[in-house]
Amino acid sequence: MLKIDEDRIYQEIESRKPKAIALSAPDALLAKTEELASKITERFGVNAFVMGDACYGTCDTTDGEIGKIEADIAFNIGHTISFDKLGKQTILIDAIDDITFDRVLENSLPFLKQYRKIGLCTFSQHLHELSKAKEFYQKNGFEAIIGKGKGQLRDGQIFGCEFYPVYFIKDQADAFLLLGQSNFHAIGVALSSQKPTYMLDPYANEVIDVKEVANERLKRSILAVYKAREAERFGLIVGLRDGQSMLHQTLELKKKLEAHGKKVELIALRDITSERLANLRRVDAFIQTACPRISVDGYTFDRPVLSVPQAEALIRVLEGKDPGEFLVRGNWL
Ligand code: SF4
Repeated sequence: MLKIDEDRIYQEIESRKPKAIALSAPDALLAKTEELASKITERFGVNAFVMGDACYGTCDTTDGEIGKIEADIAFNIGHTISFDKLGKQTILIDAIDDITFDRVLENSLPFLKQYRKIGLCTFSQHLHELSKAKEFYQKNGFEAIIGKGKGQLRDGQIFGCEFYPVYFIKDQADAFLLLGQSNFHAIGVALSSQKPTYMLDPYANEVIDVKEVANERLKRSILAVYKAREAERFGLIVGLRDGQSMLHQTLELKKKLEAHGKKVELIALRDITSERLANLRRVDAFIQTACPRISVDGYTFDRPVLSVPQAEALIRVLEGKDPGEFLVRGNWL
């Protein structure tokens, strides 16, 4: 069960006495967040707004928006990182999943016979399980490695677009194990490491090899780069979510594309969806610097929509070079 660190929120409200607060959380935590908002209002008499837009990560705070609802503090729930504040008003609140991995760890052993060194990683909700998993595999004769964190990431932690703890140890590990029920994260691990990767799902007690689906994503990503090579006119999209706004990077890409004779138009968008892009008919291919997973996992676009690593691969292709292993890196931003 997911447990929000409510005490941390209460302490902050008690000490700062805000008039109103904002609560953002991923969809899986939204129902609990609604309950929490009611509790806060009853207990402290402050207006508590549940931010109903999608909240994908620490890239997606509401720091720049809470003034509109006259809130003094924004709590971003469920995206534990190595520091507890972001921007001017946002406080990060842990949400821990107390499910045990004991059974799925046992179930994983037959899948790992051909490996000796295994890399362990997970996302925010299961970080506290990493050391127990390491101990389990060491006892069972493996060398279990947890990669060092960097920037926002703690040791062994990954995001959908940042994989430093995996990337740093990819040459040491024979395979990676992702603790948690998330194909999305496991596919990212497989693509950024190019190593066999298994998702350990503690709910279904299943061990899933994500190789096939990761390979398919990689093929699609490469194909999109080569399709974009033929484009004459590019739409360069800057994301408008707080942590996704990469203006400098976008303008650098603009210069590079123009140097190769491509026409470029600049677009700013909060939500990059096939519906929004469908209206922009003059563009042959898009590059978006907001969230790489929109491109790597996106299936519904009618034209290529490249992420930053794909755009860099495209520039290499336009220079007559090989695209390279463009997704094998510590982050995709
Ligand atoms: S994968 Fe996308 S949504 Fe998730 S943290 Fe990265 S930029 Fe944000």
